[in-house]
Amino acid sequence: RGTSPVPPDARPRLTVLSGPSGVGKSTVVAHMRKAHPEVWLSVSATTRTPRPGERDGVHYFFVTDDEMDKLIANGELLEWAEFAGNRYGTPRAAVLEHLESGLPVLLEIDLQGARQVRASMTEAQLVFLAPPSWDELVRRLTGRGTESPEVVERRLEAAKTELAAEPEFDTTLVNTSVEDVARELLALMNVV
Ligand code: 5GP
Repeated sequence: RGTSPVPPDARPRLTVLSGPSGVGKSTVVAHMRKAHPEVWLSVSATTRTPRPGERDGVHYFFVTDDEMDKLIANGELLEWAEFAGNRYGTPRAAVLEHLESGLPVLLEIDLQGARQVRASMTEAQLVFLAPPSWDELVRRLTGRGTESPEVVERRLEAAKTELAAEPEFDTTLVNTSVEDVARELLALMNVV
């Protein structure tokens, strides 16, 4: 009476990892999943062209503008956003299926997407991955060498907005070491 029992599955099973482009989200997630492949990572649809080594259906579903229009119109995306000139979205059905099956589910998406997930899935936990410093972020984003100077510039602009939104997140992890952050993220997801 008065105090409702905490359901055994009260732990958040949907985790959103966000943070500026170049901060190292993909590296952290890849490291984490090597040790814990049971963590299910959503594969987004994007209109961006693949980087060398990226495979369709693995890193992204690479779609045309028309295909993205249809995904949006048909309500097939849990969230979507335009980021630095391309559209990205999370296929809804796969996320719901994996949550249903009880697996820890991870979305690696931008700030706009994180806000949409917060609004539609109240049980989600939002984790922000921050760079050790602005200079370090510039170094990483420039040093990646996969984007043109114009694209790097757009991504740095977006990064300023993303960094300012850090207080909206439930938890902030600073990416000083891939190993440490991967461990912290696993702990937040209750994966042991
Ligand atoms: P990149 O082009 O570097 O792979 O991704 C650019 C940004 O888009 C990153 O911040 C990444 O997290 C974000 N992103 C990737 N997939 C999605 C998605 O499905 N939805 C949203 N909102 N952002 C995404």
